[in-house]
Amino acid sequence: MLTIHQEPEIQEINNDFLDQKKIQLFVKREDLIHPDVSGNKWRKLKYNLIQAKSEGHHTLLTFGGAYSNHIYATAAAAKEVGFKSIGIIRGEEHLPLNHTLSFAKEQGMHISYMDRSTYRLKKTAPIIQQLRDKYGDFYLVPEGGTNNLAIKGCEEIVDDEVRSFDYVCSASGTGGTLSGIIVGMQGAGQVLGFSALKGDFLQKEVGDLLKGYGVDYQNWKVNTDYHFGGYAKINAELMSFIHRFREEHNLPLDPVYTGKMMFGLWALIGMDYFEPGSKILAIHTGGLQGLKGFE
Ligand SMILES: *Cc1c(COP(=O)(O)O)cnc(C)c1O
Repeated sequence: MLTIHQEPEIQEINNDFLDQKKIQLFVKREDLIHPDVSGNKWRKLKYNLIQAKSEGHHTLLTFGGAYSNHIYATAAAAKEVGFKSIGIIRGEEHLPLNHTLSFAKEQGMHISYMDRSTYRLKKTAPIIQQLRDKYGDFYLVPEGGTNNLAIKGCEEIVDDEVRSFDYVCSASGTGGTLSGIIVGMQGAGQVLGFSALKGDFLQKEVGDLLKGYGVDYQNWKVNTDYHFGGYAKINAELMSFIHRFREEHNLPLDPVYTGKMMFGLWALIGMDYFEPGSKILAIHTGGLQGLKGFE
């Protein structure tokens, strides 16, 4: 089992703007759960590791980009629970290895590269068979880590205290974490996802994930206005917001996910999207390792 480094606590954000808007804002610090397997990646891997072990596997294989928090977390988690790990990275090798990949390698992950056109076919049977021929038996964790066991793990972000909020917000990539939060809320409150990716496929994707999980909740929405041009795209306004948030609230945010969520949440509060008196909880899904890639 993966260890919990620190139980995620809920911290209040206080300032005059929130007082004026009569909004109470809190952050659940899932980023503190583990130093290397941070936030939602810990939640998403938990039951997959238990499953892999119960099926008698010794190796995890997964996919991701060169800056992927999922690759970083999977490498650390595999090491901690005594699995071998293989990371199939999109694109070509760039030396020296960046922080994410050199960390993954230090954890013992075998890194291999897949050209972009083959990578697009990574879910298909022939490509998976090629990987099995090359590496032997492995437990496959999908790109981003999203599957039903990941959703089950993310349900555990939610407890009675989380269910008492009017709104629960999370950054979203594949939608697995958001789906788990929606399931965990059991219909209470409103769940709001902020897409870190360009486009509006996530509303449908999350609907499909929920359906595949056998539930049909309607108390959720995906906001697609704060992706800043797409995955890992940033601008000076976002970076200065993140910087200010750290100074004023002692809360570190990453530029790929949680920074965009908080920027969007702050903007929506400014536009009176939330009724006065609302209690909002933002989930800090972690990802602070990604900061090093931007330094
Ligand atoms: C991976 C990641 C997400 C996205 O999670 P999904 O389940 O893919 O939507 C959000 N926040 C952080 C910090 C992440 O690392």
